[in-house]
Amino acid sequence: MSDSQAKAAASNELERFQLYINGEYVAAKSGKTFLTANPYTTENWAEVPDAGTEDVDLAVEAARKAMEGPWGSMSGFQRAKLIRRLGELIDENAEYLARMEVRDSGKLYREMIFQLKYLPEWFNYFSGLADKLEGKTIPTDKNNFFVYTQRHPVGVVAAITPWNAPMMLMAMKLAPALAAGCTFVIKPSEHAPASTLAFGKLVKEAGIPDGVFNVVTGLDRQLGAHLAGHPGVGKVVFTGSTATGRAVAQAAGSQLNGVVLELGGKSPQVVFEDSDPEAVANGVIAGIFAAGGQTCMAGSRLIIHRSMVKDVVDRVVARAKTIKMGDPQADDTEMGPISNKPQFDRISEFLKSADSEGAKVVTGGVDTDKHGWFVKPTVITDVTSDMRVVKEEIFGPVLCVIPFDTEEEAIALANDTEYGLAGSVWTMNIQRAHRVASKLRTGTVWINSYRAVSPSVPFGGFGASGLGRENGVESILDFMETKSVWVELSGATRDPFRMA
Ligand code: NAD
Repeated sequence: MSDSQAKAAASNELERFQLYINGEYVAAKSGKTFLTANPYTTENWAEVPDAGTEDVDLAVEAARKAMEGPWGSMSGFQRAKLIRRLGELIDENAEYLARMEVRDSGKLYREMIFQLKYLPEWFNYFSGLADKLEGKTIPTDKNNFFVYTQRHPVGVVAAITPWNAPMMLMAMKLAPALAAGCTFVIKPSEHAPASTLAFGKLVKEAGIPDGVFNVVTGLDRQLGAHLAGHPGVGKVVFTGSTATGRAVAQAAGSQLNGVVLELGGKSPQVVFEDSDPEAVANGVIAGIFAAGGQTCMAGSRLIIHRSMVKDVVDRVVARAKTIKMGDPQADDTEMGPISNKPQFDRISEFLKSADSEGAKVVTGGVDTDKHGWFVKPTVITDVTSDMRVVKEEIFGPVLCVIPFDTEEEAIALANDTEYGLAGSVWTMNIQRAHRVASKLRTGTVWINSYRAVSPSVPFGGFGASGLGRENGVESILDFMETKSVWVELSGATRDPFRMA
Protein backbone atom coordinates (compact mmCIF):
# COMPACT_ATOMS: atom_id res chain seq x y z
CA MET A 1 0.00 0.00 0.00
CA SER A 2 1.21 3.52 -0.73
CA ASP A 3 2.02 6.04 2.00
CA SER A 4 -0.87 8.25 0.87
CA GLN A 5 -3.34 5.39 1.25
CA ALA A 6 -2.01 4.56 4.69
CA LYS A 7 -2.28 8.25 5.61
CA ALA A 8 -5.85 8.47 4.37
CA ALA A 9 -6.71 5.37 6.37
CA ALA A 10 -5.33 6.94 9.52
CA SER A 11 -7.10 10.27 8.98
CA ASN A 12 -10.78 11.15 9.06
CA GLU A 13 -11.21 11.75 5.33
CA LEU A 14 -13.98 9.84 3.58
CA GLU A 15 -12.20 7.03 1.74
CA ARG A 16 -13.54 5.87 -1.60
CA PHE A 17 -13.46 2.27 -2.76
CA GLN A 18 -14.33 0.52 -6.00
CA LEU A 19 -15.35 -2.96 -7.03
CA TYR A 20 -12.50 -5.24 -8.02
CA ILE A 21 -13.40 -7.14 -11.18
CA ASN A 22 -11.05 -8.80 -13.66
CA GLY A 23 -7.97 -7.18 -12.13
CA GLU A 24 -9.36 -3.64 -12.30
CA TYR A 25 -10.95 -1.28 -9.82
CA VAL A 26 -14.28 -0.19 -11.32
CA ALA A 27 -17.46 1.62 -10.27
CA ALA A 28 -20.78 -0.24 -10.06
CA LYS A 29 -22.49 -0.19 -13.49
CA SER A 30 -25.32 1.87 -11.99
CA GLY A 31 -22.81 4.37 -10.56
CA LYS A 32 -24.50 3.96 -7.17
CA THR A 33 -22.57 3.98 -3.91
CA PHE A 34 -23.29 3.68 -0.20
CA LEU A 35 -21.56 4.89 2.96
CA THR A 36 -20.30 2.80 5.83
CA ALA A 37 -19.96 4.05 9.38
CA ASN A 38 -17.16 3.80 11.88
CA PRO A 39 -18.94 2.30 14.90
CA TYR A 40 -16.74 4.13 17.39
CA THR A 41 -17.46 7.62 16.03
CA THR A 42 -20.77 6.52 14.41
CA GLU A 43 -19.70 8.72 11.49
CA ASN A 44 -19.43 7.57 7.89
CA TRP A 45 -15.84 7.00 6.87
CA ALA A 46 -15.99 5.14 3.54
CA GLU A 47 -17.91 5.29 0.30
CA VAL A 48 -18.40 1.92 -1.34
CA PRO A 49 -19.97 0.80 -4.65
CA ASP A 50 -23.56 -0.36 -4.44
CA ALA A 51 -23.34 -3.14 -7.01
CA GLY A 52 -26.28 -4.73 -8.78
CA THR A 53 -26.79 -8.14 -10.30
CA GLU A 54 -25.13 -6.96 -13.53
CA ASP A 55 -21.89 -6.35 -11.62
CA VAL A 56 -22.10 -9.82 -10.07
CA ASP A 57 -22.58 -11.29 -13.55
CA LEU A 58 -19.45 -9.48 -14.77
CA ALA A 59 -17.44 -10.72 -11.80
CA VAL A 60 -18.55 -14.33 -12.33
CA GLU A 61 -17.81 -14.07 -16.05
CA ALA A 62 -14.32 -12.73 -15.32
CA ALA A 63 -13.73 -15.58 -12.88
CA ARG A 64 -14.93 -18.16 -15.42
CA LYS A 65 -12.68 -16.73 -18.12
CA ALA A 66 -9.73 -16.81 -15.73
CA MET A 67 -10.30 -20.56 -15.26
CA GLU A 68 -9.77 -20.91 -19.01
CA GLY A 69 -6.76 -18.55 -19.05
CA PRO A 70 -3.26 -18.80 -17.59
CA TRP A 71 -4.54 -19.65 -14.11
CA GLY A 72 -6.39 -22.73 -15.36
CA SER A 73 -3.29 -24.10 -17.07
CA MET A 74 -0.86 -23.38 -14.22
CA SER A 75 0.66 -26.26 -12.31
CA GLY A 76 0.09 -26.58 -8.57
CA PHE A 77 3.78 -25.79 -8.13
CA GLN A 78 3.34 -22.43 -9.85
CA ARG A 79 0.14 -21.63 -7.96
CA ALA A 80 1.84 -22.44 -4.67
CA LYS A 81 4.51 -19.78 -5.27
CA LEU A 82 1.89 -17.11 -6.00
CA ILE A 83 -0.18 -18.07 -2.96
CA ARG A 84 2.90 -17.84 -0.71
CA ARG A 85 3.71 -14.43 -2.21
CA LEU A 86 0.18 -13.28 -1.41
CA GLY A 87 0.73 -14.37 2.19
CA GLU A 88 3.94 -12.30 2.35
CA LEU A 89 2.09 -9.26 1.03
CA ILE A 90 -0.60 -9.66 3.68
CA ASP A 91 2.14 -9.66 6.30
CA GLU A 92 3.67 -6.49 4.81
CA ASN A 93 0.28 -4.75 4.72
CA ALA A 94 -1.07 -6.13 7.97
CA GLU A 95 -1.17 -2.84 9.82
CA TYR A 96 -2.93 -1.02 6.97
CA LEU A 97 -5.60 -3.72 6.67
CA ALA A 98 -5.99 -4.12 10.42
CA ARG A 99 -6.56 -0.39 10.94
CA MET A 100 -9.12 -0.46 8.13
CA GLU A 101 -11.00 -3.37 9.71
CA VAL A 102 -11.05 -1.50 13.03
CA ARG A 103 -12.58 1.56 11.36
CA ASP A 104 -15.14 -0.55 9.56
CA SER A 105 -16.14 -3.00 12.30
CA GLY A 106 -15.03 -1.47 15.62
CA LYS A 107 -13.03 -4.56 16.51
CA LEU A 108 -9.93 -3.92 18.60
CA TYR A 109 -6.72 -3.08 16.78
CA ARG A 110 -4.83 -5.50 19.05
CA GLU A 111 -7.18 -8.29 17.93
CA MET A 112 -7.16 -7.36 14.24
CA ILE A 113 -3.39 -6.91 13.95
CA PHE A 114 -2.98 -10.34 15.54
CA GLN A 115 -5.40 -11.80 12.99
CA LEU A 116 -3.79 -10.06 10.02
CA LYS A 117 -0.27 -11.09 11.07
CA TYR A 118 -1.54 -14.66 11.47
CA LEU A 119 -3.33 -14.83 8.10
CA PRO A 120 -0.20 -15.62 6.04
CA GLU A 121 -0.21 -19.00 7.81
CA TRP A 122 -3.40 -19.89 5.91
CA PHE A 123 -1.68 -19.08 2.62
CA ASN A 124 1.50 -20.95 3.63
CA TYR A 125 -0.46 -23.98 4.80
CA PHE A 126 -2.67 -24.29 1.72
CA SER A 127 0.15 -23.42 -0.72
CA GLY A 128 1.79 -26.56 0.69
CA LEU A 129 -1.18 -28.57 -0.57
CA ALA A 130 -1.41 -26.96 -4.04
CA ASP A 131 1.35 -29.19 -5.44
CA LYS A 132 0.12 -32.37 -3.73
CA LEU A 133 -3.36 -32.75 -5.20
CA GLU A 134 -2.89 -36.37 -6.09
CA GLY A 135 -5.34 -38.84 -7.54
CA LYS A 136 -5.27 -42.57 -6.85
CA THR A 137 -4.98 -45.75 -8.83
CA ILE A 138 -7.84 -48.00 -7.78
CA PRO A 139 -7.86 -51.77 -8.02
CA THR A 140 -11.23 -53.10 -9.16
CA ASP A 141 -12.91 -56.49 -9.61
CA LYS A 142 -12.33 -56.16 -13.40
CA ASN A 143 -8.90 -57.34 -14.56
CA ASN A 144 -9.25 -55.72 -17.96
CA PHE A 145 -9.48 -52.20 -16.55
CA PHE A 146 -6.91 -49.85 -15.11
CA VAL A 147 -8.66 -47.13 -13.08
CA TYR A 148 -7.27 -43.89 -11.76
CA THR A 149 -8.73 -40.68 -10.32
CA GLN A 150 -7.88 -37.05 -10.94
CA ARG A 151 -8.71 -33.94 -8.93
CA HIS A 152 -10.17 -30.97 -10.80
CA PRO A 153 -11.02 -27.53 -9.41
CA VAL A 154 -14.78 -26.97 -8.99
CA GLY A 155 -14.48 -23.73 -10.96
CA VAL A 156 -15.71 -20.40 -9.66
CA VAL A 157 -16.06 -20.19 -5.88
CA ALA A 158 -18.62 -17.71 -4.56
CA ALA A 159 -17.73 -16.51 -1.07
CA ILE A 160 -20.11 -14.54 1.16
CA THR A 161 -18.73 -13.21 4.44
CA PRO A 162 -20.05 -11.44 7.56
CA TRP A 163 -18.80 -8.25 9.20
CA ASN A 164 -17.09 -9.60 12.28
CA ALA A 165 -13.71 -10.66 10.80
CA PRO A 166 -13.78 -10.03 7.05
CA MET A 167 -10.13 -10.76 6.26
CA MET A 168 -9.81 -13.87 8.40
CA LEU A 169 -13.06 -15.39 7.19
CA MET A 170 -12.05 -14.63 3.60
CA ALA A 171 -8.60 -16.20 4.07
CA MET A 172 -10.15 -19.46 5.29
CA LYS A 173 -11.95 -19.69 1.94
CA LEU A 174 -9.53 -18.02 -0.47
CA ALA A 175 -6.35 -19.90 0.48
CA PRO A 176 -7.76 -23.42 -0.15
CA ALA A 177 -9.76 -22.25 -3.20
CA LEU A 178 -6.62 -20.86 -4.86
CA ALA A 179 -4.60 -23.92 -3.88
CA ALA A 180 -7.24 -26.12 -5.55
CA GLY A 181 -6.98 -24.04 -8.73
CA CYS A 182 -10.37 -22.30 -8.43
CA THR A 183 -11.18 -18.67 -9.10
CA PHE A 184 -13.05 -16.51 -6.63
CA VAL A 185 -15.84 -13.95 -6.37
CA ILE A 186 -16.43 -12.56 -2.89
CA LYS A 187 -19.25 -10.46 -1.50
CA PRO A 188 -18.30 -9.10 1.91
CA SER A 189 -20.86 -7.75 4.37
CA GLU A 190 -22.43 -4.38 3.62
CA HIS A 191 -21.42 -3.43 7.20
CA ALA A 192 -17.66 -3.99 6.74
CA PRO A 193 -16.78 -4.15 3.03
CA ALA A 194 -13.63 -1.97 2.85
CA SER A 195 -10.76 -4.33 3.61
CA THR A 196 -11.96 -6.95 1.12
CA LEU A 197 -12.08 -4.31 -1.63
CA ALA A 198 -8.61 -3.04 -0.67
CA PHE A 199 -7.30 -6.62 -0.76
CA GLY A 200 -7.66 -6.75 -4.57
CA LYS A 201 -4.45 -4.76 -4.94
CA LEU A 202 -2.46 -7.34 -3.03
CA VAL A 203 -3.74 -10.13 -5.28
CA LYS A 204 -2.58 -8.14 -8.31
CA GLU A 205 0.79 -7.37 -6.72
CA ALA A 206 1.29 -11.07 -5.95
CA GLY A 207 1.15 -11.75 -9.70
CA ILE A 208 -2.06 -13.77 -9.59
CA PRO A 209 -3.71 -13.38 -13.02
CA ASP A 210 -6.58 -10.95 -13.54
CA GLY A 211 -10.04 -12.41 -12.99
CA VAL A 212 -8.91 -14.97 -10.41
CA PHE A 213 -10.06 -12.77 -7.50
CA ASN A 214 -13.10 -10.45 -7.72
CA VAL A 215 -15.01 -8.41 -5.14
CA VAL A 216 -18.57 -7.07 -5.32
CA THR A 217 -20.24 -5.01 -2.61
CA GLY A 218 -23.81 -3.88 -2.31
CA LEU A 219 -26.52 -2.84 0.09
CA ASP A 220 -29.20 -5.14 -1.25
CA ARG A 221 -29.01 -8.40 0.70
CA GLN A 222 -30.37 -10.20 -2.38
CA LEU A 223 -27.02 -9.55 -4.09
CA GLY A 224 -25.54 -12.46 -2.15
CA ALA A 225 -28.46 -14.67 -3.16
CA HIS A 226 -27.88 -13.77 -6.82
CA LEU A 227 -24.23 -14.76 -6.46
CA ALA A 228 -25.01 -18.01 -4.58
CA GLY A 229 -27.55 -19.06 -7.20
CA HIS A 230 -25.46 -18.02 -10.19
CA PRO A 231 -25.23 -20.67 -12.91
CA GLY A 232 -21.56 -19.77 -13.45
CA VAL A 233 -20.59 -20.73 -9.89
CA GLY A 234 -19.30 -24.16 -8.84
CA LYS A 235 -19.26 -23.84 -5.05
CA VAL A 236 -20.66 -21.44 -2.47
CA VAL A 237 -18.79 -20.89 0.79
CA PHE A 238 -20.73 -18.84 3.28
CA THR A 239 -20.11 -17.54 6.78
CA GLY A 240 -22.94 -15.75 8.52
CA SER A 241 -26.10 -16.27 10.50
CA THR A 242 -28.12 -19.47 10.40
CA ALA A 243 -31.17 -17.71 8.92
CA THR A 244 -29.13 -16.29 6.05
CA GLY A 245 -27.34 -19.61 5.62
CA ARG A 246 -30.69 -21.25 4.92
CA ALA A 247 -31.45 -18.60 2.27
CA VAL A 248 -28.00 -19.08 0.72
CA ALA A 249 -28.46 -22.86 0.59
CA GLN A 250 -31.84 -22.40 -1.13
CA ALA A 251 -30.41 -19.99 -3.70
CA ALA A 252 -27.43 -22.30 -4.32
CA GLY A 253 -29.77 -25.30 -4.56
CA SER A 254 -31.62 -23.73 -7.47
CA GLN A 255 -28.48 -24.32 -9.56
CA LEU A 256 -27.26 -27.35 -7.60
CA ASN A 257 -24.22 -25.33 -6.56
CA GLY A 258 -22.45 -27.05 -3.67
CA VAL A 259 -22.37 -25.25 -0.31
CA VAL A 260 -20.18 -24.99 2.75
CA LEU A 261 -21.96 -23.11 5.53
CA GLU A 262 -20.30 -21.72 8.66
CA LEU A 263 -23.17 -20.42 10.76
CA GLY A 264 -24.11 -19.21 14.20
CA GLY A 265 -23.59 -20.70 17.64
CA LYS A 266 -24.70 -20.75 21.26
CA SER A 267 -21.60 -22.39 22.61
CA PRO A 268 -21.40 -23.90 26.11
CA GLN A 269 -18.48 -23.62 28.51
CA VAL A 270 -18.96 -26.63 30.82
CA VAL A 271 -17.22 -26.13 34.16
CA PHE A 272 -16.78 -28.98 36.67
CA GLU A 273 -16.22 -28.67 40.38
CA ASP A 274 -12.55 -29.73 40.19
CA SER A 275 -11.43 -26.97 37.83
CA ASP A 276 -9.26 -23.98 38.69
CA PRO A 277 -11.66 -21.01 39.18
CA GLU A 278 -9.10 -18.42 38.14
CA ALA A 279 -8.31 -20.23 34.87
CA VAL A 280 -12.03 -20.75 34.25
CA ALA A 281 -12.85 -17.07 34.84
CA ASN A 282 -10.11 -16.10 32.40
CA GLY A 283 -11.41 -18.59 29.81
CA VAL A 284 -14.97 -17.36 30.26
CA ILE A 285 -13.86 -13.78 29.64
CA ALA A 286 -11.86 -14.86 26.56
CA GLY A 287 -14.90 -16.73 25.32
CA ILE A 288 -17.59 -14.09 25.66
CA PHE A 289 -16.10 -10.63 26.21
CA ALA A 290 -13.17 -10.80 23.78
CA ALA A 291 -14.23 -9.22 20.49
CA GLY A 292 -17.31 -7.94 22.33
CA GLY A 293 -18.83 -11.41 22.00
CA GLN A 294 -19.15 -10.79 18.26
CA THR A 295 -17.65 -14.10 17.26
CA CYS A 296 -19.44 -17.18 16.03
CA MET A 297 -17.69 -19.27 18.68
CA ALA A 298 -18.61 -16.97 21.60
CA GLY A 299 -18.92 -19.06 24.78
CA SER A 300 -22.29 -17.57 25.64
CA ARG A 301 -23.62 -20.25 28.02
CA LEU A 302 -21.66 -20.87 31.22
CA ILE A 303 -22.84 -24.31 32.33
CA ILE A 304 -21.28 -24.62 35.74
CA HIS A 305 -21.35 -26.98 38.72
CA ARG A 306 -23.50 -25.41 41.42
CA SER A 307 -20.63 -25.47 43.93
CA MET A 308 -18.48 -23.30 41.61
CA VAL A 309 -21.08 -20.71 40.62
CA LYS A 310 -20.34 -18.07 43.23
CA ASP A 311 -16.56 -18.27 43.03
CA VAL A 312 -16.40 -18.11 39.22
CA VAL A 313 -19.22 -15.62 38.69
CA ASP A 314 -17.77 -13.26 41.33
CA ARG A 315 -14.42 -13.32 39.51
CA VAL A 316 -16.01 -12.83 36.08
CA VAL A 317 -18.21 -9.98 37.32
CA ALA A 318 -15.28 -8.26 39.08
CA ARG A 319 -13.18 -8.45 35.91
CA ALA A 320 -16.14 -7.41 33.71
CA LYS A 321 -16.46 -4.21 35.72
CA THR A 322 -12.83 -3.28 35.05
CA ILE A 323 -12.77 -4.09 31.32
CA LYS A 324 -11.54 -0.96 29.58
CA MET A 325 -14.03 0.06 26.93
CA GLY A 326 -13.34 2.74 24.38
CA ASP A 327 -11.43 3.57 21.21
CA PRO A 328 -10.75 0.28 19.41
CA GLN A 329 -7.62 1.76 17.80
CA ALA A 330 -6.00 2.34 21.23
CA ASP A 331 -3.58 -0.32 22.45
CA ASP A 332 -4.99 -0.56 25.97
CA THR A 333 -8.69 -0.85 25.03
CA GLU A 334 -10.17 -4.24 25.91
CA MET A 335 -13.64 -3.90 24.39
CA GLY A 336 -14.72 -1.67 21.52
CA PRO A 337 -18.18 -0.77 20.30
CA ILE A 338 -20.74 -3.10 18.77
CA SER A 339 -19.99 -3.20 15.05
CA ASN A 340 -23.12 -1.65 13.61
CA LYS A 341 -26.39 -0.06 14.62
CA PRO A 342 -28.70 -2.99 13.66
CA GLN A 343 -26.56 -5.33 15.79
CA PHE A 344 -26.56 -2.85 18.70
CA ASP A 345 -30.36 -2.64 18.49
CA ARG A 346 -30.61 -6.43 18.40
CA ILE A 347 -28.50 -6.85 21.55
CA SER A 348 -30.53 -4.13 23.29
CA GLU A 349 -33.71 -6.08 22.46
CA PHE A 350 -32.24 -9.26 23.93
CA LEU A 351 -31.37 -7.44 27.15
CA LYS A 352 -34.93 -6.13 27.39
CA SER A 353 -36.26 -9.66 26.84
CA ALA A 354 -34.04 -10.98 29.67
CA ASP A 355 -35.56 -8.42 31.96
CA SER A 356 -39.16 -9.05 30.92
CA GLU A 357 -38.72 -12.83 31.10
CA GLY A 358 -37.49 -12.59 34.71
CA ALA A 359 -33.75 -13.17 34.41
CA LYS A 360 -31.32 -11.18 36.57
CA VAL A 361 -28.69 -8.92 34.95
CA VAL A 362 -25.88 -9.08 37.53
CA THR A 363 -23.65 -6.66 35.67
CA GLY A 364 -23.58 -4.94 32.28
CA GLY A 365 -26.30 -3.66 29.97
CA VAL A 366 -26.31 -1.01 27.28
CA ASP A 367 -23.74 1.72 27.94
CA THR A 368 -25.70 4.94 27.73
CA ASP A 369 -22.77 7.13 28.89
CA LYS A 370 -20.69 6.55 25.79
CA HIS A 371 -21.00 7.98 22.32
CA GLY A 372 -21.00 5.03 19.89
CA TRP A 373 -22.76 1.70 20.08
CA PHE A 374 -21.43 0.25 23.32
CA VAL A 375 -22.75 -2.67 25.34
CA LYS A 376 -21.02 -3.39 28.65
CA PRO A 377 -19.83 -6.90 29.45
CA THR A 378 -23.04 -8.47 30.70
CA VAL A 379 -23.63 -11.43 33.02
CA ILE A 380 -27.16 -12.84 33.38
CA THR A 381 -28.24 -15.35 36.04
CA ASP A 382 -31.57 -16.90 37.09
CA VAL A 383 -32.27 -18.03 33.55
CA THR A 384 -34.48 -20.86 32.31
CA SER A 385 -33.98 -22.89 29.17
CA ASP A 386 -36.95 -21.31 27.37
CA MET A 387 -35.67 -17.73 27.63
CA ARG A 388 -34.59 -16.01 24.42
CA VAL A 389 -31.19 -15.06 25.87
CA VAL A 390 -30.48 -18.75 26.52
CA LYS A 391 -31.85 -20.13 23.26
CA GLU A 392 -30.88 -17.61 20.60
CA GLU A 393 -27.51 -16.40 19.38
CA ILE A 394 -27.01 -12.83 20.66
CA PHE A 395 -23.63 -12.12 19.04
CA GLY A 396 -22.66 -9.70 21.75
CA PRO A 397 -20.93 -9.60 25.18
CA VAL A 398 -23.72 -11.37 27.04
CA LEU A 399 -23.12 -14.43 29.25
CA CYS A 400 -25.89 -16.64 30.67
CA VAL A 401 -25.05 -18.63 33.80
CA ILE A 402 -26.69 -22.06 34.04
CA PRO A 403 -25.94 -24.23 37.14
CA PHE A 404 -25.91 -28.06 37.14
CA ASP A 405 -25.53 -30.85 39.70
CA THR A 406 -24.43 -33.95 37.75
CA GLU A 407 -22.29 -34.74 34.70
CA GLU A 408 -25.32 -36.12 32.83
CA GLU A 409 -27.23 -32.92 33.49
CA ALA A 410 -24.27 -30.83 32.31
CA ILE A 411 -24.11 -32.72 29.00
CA ALA A 412 -27.87 -32.50 28.51
CA LEU A 413 -27.84 -28.74 29.16
CA ALA A 414 -24.86 -28.20 26.85
CA ASN A 415 -26.60 -30.10 24.04
CA ASP A 416 -29.98 -28.43 24.64
CA THR A 417 -29.62 -26.15 21.60
CA GLU A 418 -30.15 -26.31 17.86
CA TYR A 419 -26.58 -25.05 17.44
CA GLY A 420 -23.37 -27.06 17.66
CA LEU A 421 -20.40 -24.91 16.74
CA ALA A 422 -18.02 -25.04 19.70
CA GLY A 423 -17.75 -25.67 23.41
CA SER A 424 -15.33 -26.28 26.23
CA VAL A 425 -14.86 -28.60 29.17
CA TRP A 426 -13.09 -27.36 32.30
CA THR A 427 -11.91 -30.12 34.63
CA MET A 428 -8.70 -31.60 36.03
CA ASN A 429 -10.09 -35.12 35.65
CA ILE A 430 -8.60 -36.45 32.41
CA GLN A 431 -11.17 -39.23 32.00
CA ARG A 432 -14.08 -36.88 32.50
CA ALA A 433 -12.52 -34.31 30.14
CA HIS A 434 -12.40 -36.73 27.20
CA ARG A 435 -15.68 -38.44 28.12
CA VAL A 436 -17.60 -35.16 28.14
CA ALA A 437 -15.75 -33.76 25.09
CA SER A 438 -16.89 -36.74 23.08
CA LYS A 439 -20.51 -36.26 24.17
CA LEU A 440 -20.80 -32.57 23.28
CA ARG A 441 -22.55 -32.20 19.92
CA THR A 442 -20.20 -29.48 18.68
CA GLY A 443 -17.67 -29.21 15.86
CA THR A 444 -14.91 -28.04 18.23
CA VAL A 445 -14.27 -28.76 21.90
CA TRP A 446 -11.51 -27.07 23.87
CA ILE A 447 -10.40 -28.72 27.10
CA ASN A 448 -9.32 -26.21 29.77
CA SER A 449 -9.08 -23.47 27.15
CA TYR A 450 -11.23 -21.46 24.75
CA ARG A 451 -11.08 -19.73 21.34
CA ALA A 452 -7.98 -21.26 19.72
CA VAL A 453 -7.93 -21.82 15.93
CA SER A 454 -5.37 -22.96 13.37
CA PRO A 455 -5.31 -23.37 9.58
CA SER A 456 -4.58 -27.07 10.10
CA VAL A 457 -7.53 -27.88 12.39
CA PRO A 458 -11.03 -28.41 10.93
CA PHE A 459 -13.60 -25.85 12.07
CA GLY A 460 -17.36 -25.95 11.54
CA GLY A 461 -20.61 -26.91 13.16
CA PHE A 462 -23.10 -29.63 13.93
CA GLY A 463 -26.82 -28.98 13.43
CA ALA A 464 -27.87 -25.39 12.81
CA SER A 465 -24.23 -24.25 13.03
CA GLY A 466 -23.42 -25.33 9.53
CA LEU A 467 -22.53 -27.78 6.83
CA GLY A 468 -18.96 -28.87 6.09
CA ARG A 469 -15.68 -27.75 7.62
CA GLU A 470 -13.14 -25.05 6.91
CA ASN A 471 -9.41 -25.45 7.64
CA GLY A 472 -7.43 -28.67 7.71
CA VAL A 473 -6.14 -30.81 4.85
CA GLU A 474 -9.54 -32.22 3.95
CA SER A 475 -11.18 -28.83 3.50
CA ILE A 476 -9.41 -28.48 0.15
CA LEU A 477 -11.57 -31.33 -1.17
CA ASP A 478 -14.56 -28.96 -1.02
CA PHE A 479 -12.96 -27.02 -3.84
CA MET A 480 -12.33 -30.02 -6.08
CA GLU A 481 -14.23 -32.58 -8.09
CA THR A 482 -13.01 -36.16 -8.36
CA LYS A 483 -12.90 -37.72 -11.81
CA SER A 484 -12.59 -41.49 -12.27
CA VAL A 485 -10.86 -42.57 -15.48
CA TRP A 486 -11.37 -46.17 -16.75
CA VAL A 487 -8.79 -47.53 -19.20
CA GLU A 488 -9.70 -50.74 -21.07
CA LEU A 489 -6.58 -52.94 -21.30
CA SER A 490 -7.51 -56.05 -23.30
CA GLY A 491 -8.70 -54.45 -26.55
CA ALA A 492 -11.48 -57.11 -26.74
CA THR A 493 -15.07 -56.34 -27.69
CA ARG A 494 -17.85 -57.34 -25.28
CA ASP A 495 -21.60 -57.82 -24.96
CA PRO A 496 -22.86 -54.25 -25.54
CA PHE A 497 -26.18 -54.99 -23.77
CA ARG A 498 -24.79 -55.55 -20.30
CA MET A 499 -22.75 -53.41 -17.97
CA ALA A 500 -18.99 -54.09 -17.96
P1 NAD B 1 -25.63 -12.29 8.02
O1 NAD B 1 -26.10 -13.68 7.87
O2 NAD B 1 -26.60 -11.22 8.28
O3 NAD B 1 -24.84 -11.84 6.70
C1 NAD B 1 -23.73 -12.57 6.21
C2 NAD B 1 -23.52 -12.24 4.75
O4 NAD B 1 -24.63 -12.73 3.98
C3 NAD B 1 -23.44 -10.75 4.44
O5 NAD B 1 -22.45 -10.54 3.45
C4 NAD B 1 -24.82 -10.43 3.91
O6 NAD B 1 -24.88 -9.33 3.04
C5 NAD B 1 -25.12 -11.70 3.13
N1 NAD B 1 -26.55 -11.95 2.90
C6 NAD B 1 -27.61 -11.42 3.54
N2 NAD B 1 -28.77 -11.93 3.05
C7 NAD B 1 -28.42 -12.79 2.08
C8 NAD B 1 -29.16 -13.67 1.23
N3 NAD B 1 -30.49 -13.72 1.26
N4 NAD B 1 -28.47 -14.44 0.37
C9 NAD B 1 -27.12 -14.41 0.33
N5 NAD B 1 -26.36 -13.61 1.12
C10 NAD B 1 -27.01 -12.82 1.99
O7 NAD B 1 -24.52 -12.36 9.16
P2 NAD B 1 -23.75 -11.15 9.86
O8 NAD B 1 -24.72 -10.43 10.72
O9 NAD B 1 -22.97 -10.40 8.84
O10 NAD B 1 -22.71 -11.95 10.77
C11 NAD B 1 -23.03 -12.49 12.01
C12 NAD B 1 -23.34 -13.98 11.89
O11 NAD B 1 -22.25 -14.68 11.31
C13 NAD B 1 -23.56 -14.63 13.24
O12 NAD B 1 -24.69 -15.46 13.20
C14 NAD B 1 -22.31 -15.46 13.43
O13 NAD B 1 -22.45 -16.54 14.30
C15 NAD B 1 -21.98 -15.86 12.06
N6 NAD B 1 -20.56 -16.24 11.94
C16 NAD B 1 -20.25 -17.57 11.82
C17 NAD B 1 -18.91 -17.98 11.77
C18 NAD B 1 -18.53 -19.45 11.63
O14 NAD B 1 -17.41 -19.74 11.26
N7 NAD B 1 -19.42 -20.39 11.91
C19 NAD B 1 -17.90 -17.02 11.83
C20 NAD B 1 -18.26 -15.67 11.96
C21 NAD B 1 -19.60 -15.30 12.00
